[in-house]
Amino acid sequence: MSTDTPQVTEIAKFNELGLIPPLLARLTELEYQQPTPIQAHAIPSILAGRDLIAGANTGSGKTATFALPLLQKLFKEQGEKSSTNHSGNYVSALILVPTRELAKQVADSVRSYAVHFNGQIKTVAVFGGVSANTQMLALRGGTDILVATPGRLLDLITSNAIKLDRVKTLVLDEADRMLSLGFTEELSALLALMPKASGPTPKQTLLFSATFPEQVQALTAQLLNNPVEIQVQNSDTSTLVQRVFTVNKGQKTALLASLIKQHQWSQVLIFVNAKNSCEHLAEKLSKRGISAEVFHGDKGQGARNRVLEAFKAGEVEVLIATDIAARGLDIEKLPVVINFDLPRSPSDYMHRIGRSGRAGEVGLALSLIDHEDYHHFKVIEKKNKIRLEREQVKGFEVNEALVASLIESLPATDKPMAKPEGTGKKKAKKKRETISSVNADIWSGYSKPK
Ligand code: AMP
Repeated sequence: MSTDTPQVTEIAKFNELGLIPPLLARLTELEYQQPTPIQAHAIPSILAGRDLIAGANTGSGKTATFALPLLQKLFKEQGEKSSTNHSGNYVSALILVPTRELAKQVADSVRSYAVHFNGQIKTVAVFGGVSANTQMLALRGGTDILVATPGRLLDLITSNAIKLDRVKTLVLDEADRMLSLGFTEELSALLALMPKASGPTPKQTLLFSATFPEQVQALTAQLLNNPVEIQVQNSDTSTLVQRVFTVNKGQKTALLASLIKQHQWSQVLIFVNAKNSCEHLAEKLSKRGISAEVFHGDKGQGARNRVLEAFKAGEVEVLIATDIAARGLDIEKLPVVINFDLPRSPSDYMHRIGRSGRAGEVGLALSLIDHEDYHHFKVIEKKNKIRLEREQVKGFEVNEALVASLIESLPATDKPMAKPEGTGKKKAKKKRETISSVNADIWSGYSKPK
């Protein structure tokens, strides 16, 4: 794969990126003062027709990065032909995303950037969880831009509601997430239905991914033709403060409630790992006088939309969610994200915390860890190349004896350190060392409570 990374030495202005007046006017209305780094790097290359692979943090302005040049190209083509692009049941630009919410959000952004095109560019969003009929109707006569989740799109293709043979631009947004959510087969099936990069009507492919696991690399090699490669470093999350609070097992809820009450955050997004954990935690908080809403995959689409809108509008202050909310949801100025349960994968940690401190806003990402999380958090840190100081909150200091006894009670294989070997006195001594070294690690980096 040949790649090149364009250098942008000075902060560019939007009017230096080659964008046309109707888009520039919209950006002024939206009060976008200057392009984010990924926009400055990528927009000229996309306008020039290059394939692109971009590694960017969430909240980096990815949507505008692909939406603006895409809209510009479609608008110009229509001007040249004096007619709309879409016809039959074809689509010109396809944006594939991993979740329903993201599909809706991206389509809304695209429409918002296109307001000065006077409805000339048709954008449709299709995703599961709602009736396919309305989406079929929307697709009648084709569409210029289609934002879709892979599963529903395949269903609609099977029912002949849409065809992909004339796709000119393909955007894979959050490619890593799409693959981790098990869309690999759907993605292959969809790709097989589109023109090839090297065929008679080559298509342009833009791939965005926060992380680059093997599956994404394979996709990249298979899909992209001499792409421009852009890796935007952490500058966009520099306003995000990450902290870790250690707490005794069984005291997380009390600590969480105390933090919420003490800090009176206007909005806080709390992540747990299971749907029923959302409900349990909401109940427990409610008993402590804190009302919270839940957001997870078992809720109907209508309910999910309502909760999200209420949270965005500030009507709901505490939202407890599974990882379904970790990707791509753009909640303006979200001040705090809390990991009540640690995410299973280190990359999910980055996606979760990316919900806060977006587009230059100051944000706080807080992880609450008890001793059972301790080892896993180290893995998360290592993989993400971060190292955070363990802190304790007054009134919730960690009980060393309790930690030691809890470690003792774990089956040997679950202990955070290797099972001590040896017998008799030697074994006992080794056991003590294991516990004390675990404790030493737990305490390292912060001061012990008096
Ligand atoms: P995204 O990464 O696309 O989800 O965008 C994150 C947020 O940043 C959205 O609320 C955008 O409206 C906003 N945004 C995107 N580009 C800019 C920009 N150049 N200046 C200010 N805000 C922006």
